[in-house]
Amino acid sequence: MNKIVKRLLSTALIGALTLGMCACSTKSNSLTVEDGKLIMATNAFFPPYEYHDDNDAITGIDVEIAQAVADKLGLELVIEDVEFDSIIAGVQSGKYDIGCAGMTVTEDRLKSVNFSTPYATGIQSVIVADDSAITDIDTLLSGDYIVGVQSGTTGDIYMSASAEDGGVGEDRVDRYSKGNDAVVALMSGKVDAVVIDNQPAQAFVAANDGLKILDTPYAQEDYAMAVNKDNEELLDKINAALAELQSDGTIDSIINKYIPAQS
Ligand code: GLN
Repeated sequence: MNKIVKRLLSTALIGALTLGMCACSTKSNSLTVEDGKLIMATNAFFPPYEYHDDNDAITGIDVEIAQAVADKLGLELVIEDVEFDSIIAGVQSGKYDIGCAGMTVTEDRLKSVNFSTPYATGIQSVIVADDSAITDIDTLLSGDYIVGVQSGTTGDIYMSASAEDGGVGEDRVDRYSKGNDAVVALMSGKVDAVVIDNQPAQAFVAANDGLKILDTPYAQEDYAMAVNKDNEELLDKINAALAELQSDGTIDSIINKYIPAQS
């Protein structure tokens, strides 16, 4: 290599390093945790919002909506499949940009994170065995039944509350890290009922014989994306993207693709 080429190369190298350093030093101003990426934390065991398809790809309503938002923001969507009850903490600590997991907006969570505009709704449902003596919520609450829930979810929060506050109390709640594990516990008789959001409830009942959903759903909830409290800019951009996706029908068509309209 002759001297000129060497010098040119080293100049290019210094230039590249300087650029790299600039990119690093401006990192704290960057819109997202990693430049150019939108890191979404989810728990992909919550069909049809997020689940592993037959090829083990993570798909579902939340994934498609987050992808559409990322596209509008010019960011690459990166999905992190983690425990549901670590999502809020991870968004709060700046590990993930968004928590997008059929996540209900609650007063308590709003103390730790911001939420985007809601893009879907859920309802809590009760799954029991076909021949269960539990016929409605009141029987469930008043009897001596054990309830399976997914840890850290609103189903867990409602059921773990004391009887005066409409729950069955901690002692009668069995927590599982995945909704499906709670359903497996129900099928093996370890728990008497599972309280979980209505859409995954329907998916679990469809996939397993001998289960039914009680006719008394309760607690209508809004699903939204959790965003770090210090990142108002990202929250605003996500809300602007969601508003566009709402008004051009994209969100409805994604939801309708996974949840056929009920008559
Ligand atoms: N909507 C419920 C919640 O936010 C459950 C979400 C989930 O299990 N992915 O707690």
